Amino acid sequence: MKFYIILGPPGAGKGTQSALLAKKYSLLHISTGDMLRREIEAGTELGIQVKQTIESGKLVDDETMLKLIKKIISEPQEGIKGFILDGFPRTLPQAEALDKMLSERKDSISAVIYLDIDEDIIFQRISYRAKMEDRKDDMERSTIENRIVQYHTKTEPLIVYYSNKGMFYRIKGDKSIEENFKEICSIIDKIEYKR
Ligand code: AMP
Repeated sequence: MKFYIILGPPGAGKGTQSALLAKKYSLLHISTGDMLRREIEAGTELGIQVKQTIESGKLVDDETMLKLIKKIISEPQEGIKGFILDGFPRTLPQAEALDKMLSERKDSISAVIYLDIDEDIIFQRISYRAKMEDRKDDMERSTIENRIVQYHTKTEPLIVYYSNKGMFYRIKGDKSIEENFKEICSIIDKIEYKR
């Protein structure tokens, strides 16, 4: 199974690109944010547990996230060639635990695609998404700021972590959806060709 990770700040376009990639390369798109929002909507025990954390723009604890990921990648999947992880990992302990999980099943990460965008674009995109998707964590400026702080302090260290492993690809994510997609596809096609 192939494992692709899409990394970047909130509003970088990870969800949009992941959905396009999933379709083109027969991957299962795993968006941990969407999964958690569905749990909240359904009022499950997990949803009740994480609601406040998500709405304040903080990160859900690693243990909960790892349980969630482990469950979904362990389920038998038919008709897919791999996974695209969107919003996971988001902390170093999550990244290390993922490596361990994958090596135990003799899998590894094929590529980490980093969508690099400027901070002013982040605000523009998130405010737009708040209107389109009615996302509570995208509405308040203080919550957005919290999400960006969490990103800088907890998620950004993953850039160095994955750069050191040599399957890290940075693209400037401020272009159009189509242009970003084309660039990501050319990276993936090159990786696939080399195999
Ligand atoms: P997203 O839709 O990816 O921006 O995620 C929305 C929210 O879900 C985040 O702000 C976190 O509160 C939570 N979340 C999603 N993925 C993770 C993760 N891997 N680790 C911790 N919290 C997460």
